[in-house]
Amino acid sequence: MQRRDFLKKTGLLTIGSLLSTTLANAQIEPLKKGDTVLILGAGIAGLTAAYKLSKKGFKVIVLEARNRIGGRIFTYSFSETPNLYAELGAEWIGESHKEIRKLCDELGLKTIKHQYKIDLLLQEQHMQSKQTQIDSAWEEKMKQIFKNFEKLSEKEKKKLDTVSWWRFLMENGIPEQELLIRELNDSTDFGESIRQVSAYAALSEYAESSDFNEMDYQIVGGNSQIINALSEKIAKENILLNKKVSTIIQENQKVKVICDDKTFFEGHKIICTLPTFAISNIHWQPHLPHLKQEAISQLLYSRIIKTQLLFKERFWNRDDFAVNTDSVSHFIFHTSQKQNNSEKGILTSYATGDKAFLLSRMNKTQQAKYVIEALKPIFGDKQQLFEQGVSYYWGTDIYTQGAYAIYNINQWFGLKNILAQPFKNILFAGEYIGEWQGFMEGAVQTALNCVDAIS
Ligand SMILES: Cc1cc2nc3c(=O)[nH]c(=O)nc-3n(C[C@H](O)[C@H](O)[C@H](O)COP(=O)(O)OP(=O)(O)OC[C@H]3O[C@@H](n4cnc5c(N)ncnc54)[C@H](O)[C@@H]3O)c2cc1C
Repeated sequence: MQRRDFLKKTGLLTIGSLLSTTLANAQIEPLKKGDTVLILGAGIAGLTAAYKLSKKGFKVIVLEARNRIGGRIFTYSFSETPNLYAELGAEWIGESHKEIRKLCDELGLKTIKHQYKIDLLLQEQHMQSKQTQIDSAWEEKMKQIFKNFEKLSEKEKKKLDTVSWWRFLMENGIPEQELLIRELNDSTDFGESIRQVSAYAALSEYAESSDFNEMDYQIVGGNSQIINALSEKIAKENILLNKKVSTIIQENQKVKVICDDKTFFEGHKIICTLPTFAISNIHWQPHLPHLKQEAISQLLYSRIIKTQLLFKERFWNRDDFAVNTDSVSHFIFHTSQKQNNSEKGILTSYATGDKAFLLSRMNKTQQAKYVIEALKPIFGDKQQLFEQGVSYYWGTDIYTQGAYAIYNINQWFGLKNILAQPFKNILFAGEYIGEWQGFMEGAVQTALNCVDAIS
């Protein structure tokens, strides 16, 4: 069963459907012919909204603080190997990420399967994916837990939101080795330790049967292709870079946005797709409602660093190579799989939480050394094949201060709906309030919800 179907079947779409009904119930005055919508942020949420509204004949102005479009979609190529690419931000599209897949089709973009067989490397002991059997009694218990989850009452679900995923597993008697493996695996999904994730948030993610439902596809040519394709559908002069929004004023049914270079823009509605840290740095006139301000200041984003290493040869033994390790380099995978136009290849290290922070304090040579060292028990020393590396640490990104939102205990039910509420003529979209939170799909869904609500 796919996650979305599972959520529907079990009635857990409450939050997701709340988000779209939140907009439907907000009785937002629809746009009139000739109205202008100011769209804040040129990530996938902002560009999707701009594309769909332009298609319907409305005028849009997209204001982006950076000198590039794409936000957390950030495809990178080393200058010597322009035909190879790696993702410094979003990597995979899931099988059940319906809206983004539909958007790719609409824009004529091809996706390819981009899956892995994931090995384990614990205390330098290498276990191939087929050998990483889990404790059978525990496996049975987990099956039962997932099954029971379907039957929980609303009250019981809310109770699960009051404990961490780590505490929940401990209370259910998870064996020590299994706990270690869950920490390594699940922290790559949430971007922080499982001690910081609500058990409800984790269970609603994992209580499904499909193993490959989030790491399934990539866009051919890199995920930035969708960003480029969307921007080509919007008049170029309507996407403005280096426009950091600093003040938002709402009066007399109009909205006005002032940027830090003192330029200003007026319109009838705003779709704000900024991450919460960026929202909190804006001067709002009138102020955002108190509850929303509180929710914004409580929500944190996870710390992730991605380090891309270019090697002269693909010394790993298979195209779908990936290994989860207990080293600081954490999850290492072959990102240039199916990019067969070069002998060279790129391995990615994807580290989360404290490991990401530690790696972010090192220089490029040290970061590469850690990855190569971590792989030694499998391949021996491959330092001589290493050409160059690049990394991006999202934990200190000036606009997000993290990779994606992480719903800690008591936050799933407590914050999400408040964060999604519109504020007069301003609607909010973006990954952090999506039904598929943490994914491009969540960003696209929320943009489509906003467009539906006003047009
Ligand atoms: C390391 C990493 C790995 C990920 N892996 C995956 C994955 O495998 N699969 C997946 O689906 N998703 C993944 N994601 C999540 C995905 O990247 C996001 O969900 C999605 O790209 C968010 O889009 P958005 O439009 O909501 O936000 P953003 O892309 O952050 O767009 C918001 C835009 O607003 C701009 N901005 C901020 N402040 C201002 C301001 N004051 N004025 C004007 N503009 C401003 C920003 O510069 C940015 O361009 C990953 C993210 C990261 C960082």
